[in-house]
Amino acid sequence: MVPLLQAMDHPCRVDQVRVGIINQNEINAANAGNCEFYVTMGLLRRANDDQLRGVLAHEIAHQDLGHVAKAQVLGAGLNILSAGLQQLFPAAGALAPIAGELVARGYGRTEEYAADRHGVDILRRAGYSKETLLDALTWIRRTAGDGGGGFLSTHPGLDERIATIEKMR
Ligand SMILES: [Zn+2]
Repeated sequence: MVPLLQAMDHPCRVDQVRVGIINQNEINAANAGNCEFYVTMGLLRRANDDQLRGVLAHEIAHQDLGHVAKAQVLGAGLNILSAGLQQLFPAAGALAPIAGELVARGYGRTEEYAADRHGVDILRRAGYSKETLLDALTWIRRTAGDGGGGFLSTHPGLDERIATIEKMR
């Protein structure tokens, strides 16, 4: 996650970054503004490193572009710092597993396409390629039938987004 954060136009300071781990089986992730991110246990359990990187690049792009955060967590309460999770997100100043439900309403269409495009920029600056985001979205589409509904419901139009990224130079 660190190389992606450093590749932002307005980089989040490492001590500024917060990652909330939501105890939810759906595959989902969100940006809550102020360099705060949420990922679900469903995402962490099933994604490989590259898929997770692609999803995070998209969410970091939302942050970098200043999109108004629409993520909130219902029923948050449990708040434990887990050392094991620090390895996944070495950049995060604090990792807080949260017992709650991630409710992330989708951004507008325009913001989603902009976040994909800027996410690819961020990936490239960090030494990766657009394939990282493409593979992540393709994986989510494939996994959707098996509890991936979260990301799909908050990030609609996956087929078109994949086609658009494929055309990017
Ligand atoms: Zn998005």
